[in-house]
Amino acid sequence: MLNLVLFGPPGAGKGTQSEKLIDKYRLVHVSTGDIFRSHIKNQTSLGQQVNQIIAEGNLVPDSITIAMLEEEIKKNPHAEGFIFDGFPRTVAQAKALDNFLMDNNTSITGVIALDVTEEELTQRIAKRQEISGRADDAADKLKKRIEEYFSKTIHVLPYYDEQGKLSKVNGIGDIETIFAELSAVIDEYNA
Ligand code: ADP
Repeated sequence: MLNLVLFGPPGAGKGTQSEKLIDKYRLVHVSTGDIFRSHIKNQTSLGQQVNQIIAEGNLVPDSITIAMLEEEIKKNPHAEGFIFDGFPRTVAQAKALDNFLMDNNTSITGVIALDVTEEELTQRIAKRQEISGRADDAADKLKKRIEEYFSKTIHVLPYYDEQGKLSKVNGIGDIETIFAELSAVIDEYNA
């Protein structure tokens, strides 16, 4: 299996690149942000539980997120691989994912971090908010999300680096150039 983590701060382009990568490598896209938003839209009990947390730009507690993620993997027993987008966001989530994959006789193939400056992120999300209308894209909520990223999520990088699984790709430039660079990293795993 090819199991990838696409890593990066809010607005790094994980969603855009994931959509392209799933087509090319026939992977299942698991975006925890998209799954949460779909629960909120459908007003499920999980959706009601996380609605406020997400709107404020805070991270959803690990226990909830990990349980949801495992459900999502189980829904795809015949997958050739997964691309995890927006997960893991904490070291506890990363460890839980490793354990879960190990129990299923597989593992993370590699983690690719999209490198983008904070200035570029703020500009991109300001633009996105005009289109998406996402409450958590508003300036003060975005600030909170970036804080969450730098206080909790960034620690996931050394966790994978110590396992020799981390690669970095420049996330600034046109979509096709970034896609080509990501593909080059992935093709190395297969080589
Ligand atoms: P972005 O990539 O633009 O930051 P996402 O769509 O990935 O946003 O996530 C939106 C929100 O959903 C996060 O700010 C957070 O509240 C919640 N969320 C998504 N994934 C996780 C996760 N792995 N752990 C905790 N909260 C999460």
